[in-house]
Amino acid sequence: MSESSDCLFCKIIAGEIPSSKVYEDESTYAFKDINPKAKVHVLIVPKKHYANAAELAAADPAELAHIVSIAQQIANESFHGAYRLVFNTGLDAGQTVFHVHAHVLTGEKLDE
Ligand code: 5GP
Ligand code: ZN
Repeated sequence: MSESSDCLFCKIIAGEIPSSKVYEDESTYAFKDINPKAKVHVLIVPKKHYANAAELAAADPAELAHIVSIAQQIANESFHGAYRLVFNTGLDAGQTVFHVHAHVLTGEKLDE
C-alpha cells in the first residue's frame, strides 16, 4: 500500500496537519486522539499506509507487534501498564479513517 494523498493520517504523519505527538520513530507515529474517550487516548499508526489491521498484519507483522509494544510503553508511563487496545475495522465497526490505527485507552480505570 503506498502513501495515500487523500488520507488524513498520512497528512498528520507528514506534518501537513498538526497533531499532538506522543511518540515517533522511523516506522511509527503516535498522537493524541482529538476526541478522547479516556483520560489518555492515543492513536498509534504505521508511517506506511495500510487500510486496516489485517492488511498490516499480512504485510508487516513485525510492525503490528511494534505497535503493541508502544501501547504497552504508553500504558506503563500513564497507568501502571493497564490499557485497552482497539482496532476498529470496517465502516460498520466504526472505522472512519482508513489508515490503520491502534486506539490506546488508558490513564484511568476503564468501564468493562
Ligand atoms: P476510527 O473511528 O477510524 O477507529 O478512529 C478515528 C479516530 O481519529 C477517532 O477517534 C477520531 O477522534 C480521531 N481523529 C479524527 N480526526 C482527527 C484529527 O484531525 N486529529 C486527531 N488527533 N485525531 C483525529
Ligand atoms: Zn494513510
